[in-house]
Amino acid sequence: MRKKIVAGNWKMNMNYEEGIAFARTLDQYFRNKPALKADVIICTPFIHLAEIAEIIKGGKVALGAQNCASEASGAFTGEVSAYMIKSTGAEYVIIGHSERRTYYNEDDRLLNKKCVLALNSGLRVIFCCGEVKEQREEGNHFVIVKRQLEEGLFPLGAESMKDIIIAYEPVWAIGTGLTATPEQAKEMHKYIRGLIKEKFGNKIADDMTILYGGSCKPSNAAEIFSKPDVDGGLIGGASLKKEDFTAIVEAV
Ligand code: PEP
Repeated sequence: MRKKIVAGNWKMNMNYEEGIAFARTLDQYFRNKPALKADVIICTPFIHLAEIAEIIKGGKVALGAQNCASEASGAFTGEVSAYMIKSTGAEYVIIGHSERRTYYNEDDRLLNKKCVLALNSGLRVIFCCGEVKEQREEGNHFVIVKRQLEEGLFPLGAESMKDIIIAYEPVWAIGTGLTATPEQAKEMHKYIRGLIKEKFGNKIADDMTILYGGSCKPSNAAEIFSKPDVDGGLIGGASLKKEDFTAIVEAV
């Protein structure tokens, strides 16, 4: 059976002390809970990774980064490689978030390169895909998501799919307060699973965790997560508040 997952994306929030304190709070909260129905991942800024990796040891929270370099090592000032991320104790990395695609012009060829480096370094990849508002209004959302997966993800091959989590994040719903309706999420998740089935067969498609992301909050999470093919969420804004994030995890 595929895993249910709730992953928090802290984005560029919290200084060193704030991030460490918040991670401690979350770690303690989940550590004291009986078995959770979902795996919990927090994707933090690079500066927090190594210390949080120590804090969460033996607990129920896993750790990821939000990006990695598109080169393995060398003269790339300011970049952080997948290999470096792995050495902090983090296990996951988000690749292809719409904010990276939009503000840093990351295209699917580049994202595929990042995925290869991440997987080769022993990280699992949370691969984001999703259409912008105009593409949905024009009825092109399926075409766009198909292209993102075919160019960014599928060239990794069947063997790599066990280390991939897909996050469908309609860009018009990220940080806007607009959420895809549960029906829209259901329809796209089914479509994505169908594409994986066509490409890699039933087993890989059935095992793939597909998350929904885009203004998920305690008030809408349970309904979205109850839809078939929706296996949890990638949570931005609401992952910064303990009450909201824990309620979303409990909504699974
Ligand atoms: C995200 O950044 O991945 C995201 C889903 O953000 P938000 O929940 O704030 O819309």
